[in-house]
Amino acid sequence: MSKIDQMRAIRDEILALKESPLYEYRTSNNYFPVIGEGSHDAAIMFVGEAPGRNEAKTGRPFCGAAGKVLDELLKHVGIDRKDIYITNIVKDRPQENRDPTPKEIEIYGPFLDRQIEISQPKVIVALGRYAMGYIMKKFDLESKLEPIGKAHGKAHAAKASYGDLDIVTLYHPCVAVYNPNNLPNLKKDMEVLKKYV
Ligand code: URA
Repeated sequence: MSKIDQMRAIRDEILALKESPLYEYRTSNNYFPVIGEGSHDAAIMFVGEAPGRNEAKTGRPFCGAAGKVLDELLKHVGIDRKDIYITNIVKDRPQENRDPTPKEIEIYGPFLDRQIEISQPKVIVALGRYAMGYIMKKFDLESKLEPIGKAHGKAHAAKASYGDLDIVTLYHPCVAVYNPNNLPNLKKDMEVLKKYV
């Protein structure tokens, strides 16, 4: 099956995912699940937490306020959105942007696992503590887990089924939405990606 067909299969399964605690909320609000966007051959995959309102209304990841910050960070290191793949762990919007629950991460995590196998990135950039926790555990880096206040801007070598990759852990872009004074620090952390560009 082609990469696009495999990604479409993931979309179709999530569209019909009645066992998700977020299914009812999505359908009753006419929201879309947010599967991911960008190149299926991208060397760099960004993983956020869960869609917000703008994302659920459009079906596109990081298209609201946090997305604006992400765009600025990408521009800072000369990365074009079309050359990366952007997704989230949880594919449906949690109510009122609350944190995702362990159950939701358990339900949606395997879809992210499949997306990683499909696009085989050389670098996975985990945005924020939920993405960091999931990705670090998945790649047997649990012993290296630190609070995001320490982990931000770091890279770890890891092994996937398809070969070596690096896991980069960054603050979630929303920290600069809540406080724009954080933007210079986020930009500095982002520079860790320059060596992959
Ligand atoms: N925050 C996220 O974690 N993901 C999005 O897609 C938007 C905001």
